Formats: sequence, C-alpha cells, structure tokens
Amino acid sequence: MIDGSLVRAVGTPTRMPLQESEAIVLRSYPLGEADRLVSFLSRSVGRIRGVARGARRPKSRFGASLEPLSHIRIWFYERETRELVRIHQCELLESFLDLQRDYQANCTLALMAEVADTVLPEREAAEGVFRLLLHVAREIRVSNTVALPLAFYTLWMVRLAGWLGDLERCARCGATLAGVAAWSRIGAVGLYCSRCRQGGMRTLSAESLELARRILAARLENLRELGSRLQPLREVSKFYLDLIEYQIERKLLSRPMLEAGT
Ligand SMILES: [Zn+2]
Repeated sequence: MIDGSLVRAVGTPTRMPLQESEAIVLRSYPLGEADRLVSFLSRSVGRIRGVARGARRPKSRFGASLEPLSHIRIWFYERETRELVRIHQCELLESFLDLQRDYQANCTLALMAEVADTVLPEREAAEGVFRLLLHVAREIRVSNTVALPLAFYTLWMVRLAGWLGDLERCARCGATLAGVAAWSRIGAVGLYCSRCRQGGMRTLSAESLELARRILAARLENLRELGSRLQPLREVSKFYLDLIEYQIERKLLSRPMLEAGT
C-alpha cells in the first residue's frame, strides 16, 4: 500500500474543493472513447474548459445538460497542475435543445456560442456576456426570428469587447454621421464620413447605421418591430462579424452555415 503523503510529494495532483456555479455551455467536443471536453461560461469565474468523464455513454449522468447554450448549474473540481477542470455534475436549468430543430435558429446559436468561446479570455468573469447569451437565445425562441437577435448579439459582443467605435461622428474630422452612410477600414474601430473615406474601406449604409444605433439603445424585446428589416439587419451583422473575425484573427466556422441558409 502506498502512503498518500508520498504520492503527493512526487507530484500527483491534489484534489481541490468542489466548486459550484451557474453556467452556459458554449461548445463541447468528443474526447477519447466516452468523455467530452466542454467549454462553458461560468457566471462567477468566466470561461473555463473541463472534462466530463463518461458524458458520451448512453446513460450518462450529464444527460442533455452539455448541449450548446444549455443553462446549467455546474459542480467542478479545479486541478492544481492542469488547465482543464474536472466536471463532476450538472443540473439543467434551461435548455435550448428545441431550437436545434430549426436550421437558422440552430446555426445562430452555434455562431453565438463560437463567438463567445473565441472572444472571451479564459477565467475572467463576463457577467454582461452571460446575460446577453441568455437574453438573445430566449428572444430567438419567443420571436421565432434570428436576424434581429443576431444583429443585437453581434453589436453587443463588439461593444463589450471594446471594439465598437463612435457611431455618431467621423473618427477623423468629427462630422456627424446622422442620416448618412459611413466607412471603415477592416478591423479599425472608428467610422469615417464620405469625405474622409479611403480606398478599400467597407461601407455601412445610412439605414444600417441608424438601425445599429437603435439596437444599442433599447432592450431586444422592445425592438421587435425592426425584425422584418432583414437586409439592413444582415448588413449590420456582417459588418461586425467581419470586425470580430479580424480581431480574433480567424474565420468563424459556424458563419458560412448560417449565411448559406439565409
Ligand atoms: Zn470625416
């Protein structure tokens, strides 16, 4: 029989206390034969990755709780010497599994999860993004639309990440952008007026820019009347998803699936 203190002395990880948190599942991947690697946004600790042992077995105790955007209560162990936590147990608080039957809703949720998973730094509390994810996923269900919720989500993610410039005035000359189109260099934070624009800049139409301002000024459920303005809503999402891709230095894998279906 091996003495416990000797085992610890030669480097076996010591088990840390069990932690409990409210969380949203961002993404999960098969790991080995029976496990899952899960990325989740913990309300208290921020984005964390962990291993759910046996989660792919038919009668796993995790059930449907590890589906993307599942709102759960999670219990996990930190492990001293490893980056990944060990997921002990989950309790499903709210599921968005029903939305997976709708192609566009399913692709939109996947894109939202991928953006949060890629943009958020590990282990930094992100209460704003936590509430944003739940708020937008619930609105997709209630309104049965995706264009407005996605534009809302994209704009707010860009703002919370600190990448949204002034939408009111030209970043170079200070001229008002009210009622006119604006331009920006890809990845740049500020918008330019028509006199200051340079070659190769992307444009945001006057209608889309006005819509973006309105979206940022109200709660999503109070904006439903804008939900039928598909073309400018898609332009807003595209403009700011391009900015996110520039900032994270890669393409979002879920984006082509959604754009193919619209
Ligand atoms: Zn200007």
